[in-house]
Amino acid sequence: MKCLKCNEKAVLEIKRHKAAFCKTHYIEHIQNQVAKTIKKFKLFPPKAKLILAISGGKDSLALWDILLDLGYNVDGLYIDLGIDDYSTNSRHKSEKFSEKKQSNLYIISLKEIYDIGLNNISKHTSRKFCSLCGMIKRYIMNKTALLGDYYAVVTGHNLDDEATSLLGNLLGWQVGYLKRQEPNMPPSEGLARKVKPLCRLSEREMAGYCVLKNIDYIIEECPMAKGASSITYKEALNHLEAKSPGIKDQFYLGFLRDGQDYFRDGNSEKEEIDLYHCSLCGQPTTSQDKCNFCKQMVRVNLDPLKVNENIKDKLIHKHWLTIIFTYLILFGYC
Ligand code: AMP
Ligand code: ZN
Ligand code: ZN
Repeated sequence: MKCLKCNEKAVLEIKRHKAAFCKTHYIEHIQNQVAKTIKKFKLFPPKAKLILAISGGKDSLALWDILLDLGYNVDGLYIDLGIDDYSTNSRHKSEKFSEKKQSNLYIISLKEIYDIGLNNISKHTSRKFCSLCGMIKRYIMNKTALLGDYYAVVTGHNLDDEATSLLGNLLGWQVGYLKRQEPNMPPSEGLARKVKPLCRLSEREMAGYCVLKNIDYIIEECPMAKGASSITYKEALNHLEAKSPGIKDQFYLGFLRDGQDYFRDGNSEKEEIDLYHCSLCGQPTTSQDKCNFCKQMVRVNLDPLKVNENIKDKLIHKHWLTIIFTYLILFGYC
């Protein structure tokens, strides 16, 4: 098979585009796709200060690499939930990558803050492990973006993730989620903008990018996610994709283009939801008392505000290090 661009021997094929590329043109293709997505969905302006949520997996590390290559100002945020070896290994991969790229990586660790990891916290709450984990991650991402004055929280959700959650939302007729499932969630009071620049690229395409760019990522999935229904939906979509290449793309991007407005009562107006402020941390919440994060932490006798203090400490620490380093460079000490 030949490269679509230069006729050299191709190294990877993208069936849904009926195309194959050599190494150089594959990397270029993926980076162009990300640049196009940023433009199409108006995710962020060129000079925006971004915080990218890093899991140590292929998508977020590849996205970090791409955004840096495209010239964006992007820091990483790794949330260490203390899920045994999985967290240790994924944290290690994230740290190694940030060192290689000489980019800022903030690490917020539950064990460092509370002395216990999510495995122990979850034993004392009523929520399912993955839902608790997702809620804590979203809370920390949001707080970091607000406290660090970032333009947006960027995540590595890819086309497979988005198509899977769309299928789950449709199967359960989660109309509220269907109205809001988009790659660019604008900010509102107390909530940072959230964007997904990989929403048009598949898991397989991102794995190919990592191999060609020599990006070392954690291959294992989180051990706690075993048996989750999202895995079954992902497999079902992969089965359909194998029979009809491009169907995932058509399903998800078609939904954004042609389907989503039907869930917004026939117009593109967003639903008005009554929001209150959490009595402990001030975060907007649909509950009249505490937000979900504070509720769960209080239930386990942990002080939710410690997370905010830890995030502030990390941001300020980095800020001072940057000032000292700039000073040393300016006066010729390094
Ligand atoms: P997942 O829900 O594991 O498929 O992850 C989706 C996206 O969430 C990743 O691409 C990351 O951007 C972000 N993410 C997941 N886990 C973490 C983590 N431990 N720390 C920071 N970001 C994360
Ligand atoms: Zn080529
Ligand atoms: Zn709260």
